[in-house]
Amino acid sequence: TTDHVYEVLLFIPGTEAYDFDDAVLDQQTITQIVKKSGMVPEFCSRKKETLEDDGDIVRQPPPDPKVLVRRPPVVTIMGHVDHGKTTLLDQLRSSNIVDKEFGGITQHIGAFLVTLSSGESICFLDTPGHAAFSAMRGRGAHLTDIIVLVVAADDGVMQQTLEVLQHAQDAAVPVIVAINKIDKDNADLDKTKQMLMQHQVMLEEFGGEVQAVPISALKGIGLTELQEAIVTQAELMQLKGDPKGLVEGRVVEAQIDPKRGRLVTAVVQRGTLKRGDLLVAGTTWAKVRAMFDDSGKLVQSAPPGTPVEILGWKEIPSAGDEILQVRKESEVKSVLAWRRNQELKRKQDETWTAIEESRKEHDQQHRADLVARREKGIYRKRREAKGKESQPRPDHPQFSLVLKGDVDGSVDAILDVFDTYHSKKCQLDIIHYGVGNVTESDVEIAAAFEGEIFAFNVDLPQKIAALAKEKGVPVRRHNIIYRLFEELVVRLNSKLPKIE
Ligand code: GDP
Repeated sequence: TTDHVYEVLLFIPGTEAYDFDDAVLDQQTITQIVKKSGMVPEFCSRKKETLEDDGDIVRQPPPDPKVLVRRPPVVTIMGHVDHGKTTLLDQLRSSNIVDKEFGGITQHIGAFLVTLSSGESICFLDTPGHAAFSAMRGRGAHLTDIIVLVVAADDGVMQQTLEVLQHAQDAAVPVIVAINKIDKDNADLDKTKQMLMQHQVMLEEFGGEVQAVPISALKGIGLTELQEAIVTQAELMQLKGDPKGLVEGRVVEAQIDPKRGRLVTAVVQRGTLKRGDLLVAGTTWAKVRAMFDDSGKLVQSAPPGTPVEILGWKEIPSAGDEILQVRKESEVKSVLAWRRNQELKRKQDETWTAIEESRKEHDQQHRADLVARREKGIYRKRREAKGKESQPRPDHPQFSLVLKGDVDGSVDAILDVFDTYHSKKCQLDIIHYGVGNVTESDVEIAAAFEGEIFAFNVDLPQKIAALAKEKGVPVRRHNIIYRLFEELVVRLNSKLPKIE
């Protein structure tokens, strides 16, 4: 048609594939060709590139240095397992509640802000344990200004300590070492420092640049010093943000809460987020309905460096997604259309690649099979007449199946291909077939014959799935026809006696 261009890749199991690369064919012609081969075509429409013209969001220019103001550093706490990351986060978070004198229940929103007595603030990403590693690779790398590396003084530098150092170096993020558990009898501060130096962590007291702060996360010792070290590092880095431009930020955490709906925590990196703002992240968007801080308090605005929970998302974005503000709803629409189109294209490309690879694999397998058979001298011409095969010899393995498909056409086409299967080694027995979802009676029949159900493009209601499981009837569901055949081949082969 004029709207669609079809790439045609026709694949018939056990034969060469036909690739009508540049052919422009209409649906009807394609259907005819494909049906002649006993298959049903699947159309993956790729709309002509009308949506693309608009493109993605046009980025605002870098801010004028004159408008920049200081902003809180964003800090990730990392370190070897059991060295005290969670305990440290808990301490920092709870000190925060007292500071705010806010009676509400703290909630985990993925990030929190600590305000020191000096008035300075620090934004901590609240990702304990191993999560901090993946966070660092994904969202963290774009978000983290400083890493606090927790090293237990009774254990010293360990495997994950080194991994953190490597990550920090790769992402060019400065590290502050928190030497933890100094309250313990077997804590060895000097040895821990030596170990760090041995791994090229140049500590300040030995003429380097890396600050090391002895702490006890458990007892709350040294936390003020740690926070001061962070502020010093932040000052050195001259962290600044533009509070005026369009909002830019990053999703720290996104989840669906059964009670509160879509919860998205973000850290604002540029601009000041307000109610009513229009935001785009990934392929979703929000009109900001309300914002909450880390203590669950409703806030009216969020300047750079602050974590906020944002309500008003149409769908949930992914952690790590970049958030950008747009001015008009019409812009939201065109940007999302463009992005979704891009994503669709990417997925289609992936599908085509997968089909291509699967085809190659199948071809190779098929050829290898033929060669093997020839070599064994057991390759025989395929039997032409269907009837001759219909009486199985009792000593032959048999494979019984029930076939269900979405429409007559597909069921017929699959049956036609089944008909071409003639093997002396294994009898293919179609005990029942039909159009529609898999039903209780399908399962009963299959169970009676110890067979399997092959379902093409139909649903398997949960109740039926449970019944099938109970009766030990495998249900093989497929949406791509050649995959169904592939699996059938695998199942048939499993019944065959091994060729020695
Ligand atoms: P994570 O795996 O790095 O998050 O470590 P956790 O915070 O879960 O701590 C592991 C264990 O070490 C827990 O039993 C903590 O109570 C303990 N721990 C953490 N910090 C300290 C500390 O400063 N002193 C002592 N004695 N134990 C600590």
